[in-house]
Amino acid sequence: MACRVYQEDSSVRTTSRFQVLDVTSIVEEAVSKSGIEKGLATVYVPHTTCGITINEAEPGLMEDIVEFLKEYTKPGAPWRHNRIDDNAHAHLGQSVLGHHVSIPVTAGRLNMGTWQRVLLVEMDGPRRRRIIITVMGE
Ligand code: ZN
Repeated sequence: MACRVYQEDSSVRTTSRFQVLDVTSIVEEAVSKSGIEKGLATVYVPHTTCGITINEAEPGLMEDIVEFLKEYTKPGAPWRHNRIDDNAHAHLGQSVLGHHVSIPVTAGRLNMGTWQRVLLVEMDGPRRRRIIITVMGE
């Protein structure tokens, strides 16, 4: 069977400066619409101040991720980028988290672990964030 590609440009609106959003259902829906049974789904955020990761959507952990990133990236610290734009911490956090994840698609569904969820990590909100989902396979 030939490889097929399905792509969807979706978006979410974040509501605070720091926020962890579970976007798994958006990805699941795209995989379902794609009709692809076996392959790979990639989730990409075309931004430099929010990241995407896979982890547990436990509310305490989601807050811990924010606290960890704040400690690690020190918002308000005298980063050089803060001279022109007060969000160096968010750019640094993005570089640590990355801007995409890949997930295997098996039997038409995301093949993730029981506790795994796709999490968008906002570090310079509130903003509208695009999420580009590409599903490739057969
Ligand atoms: Zn900036």
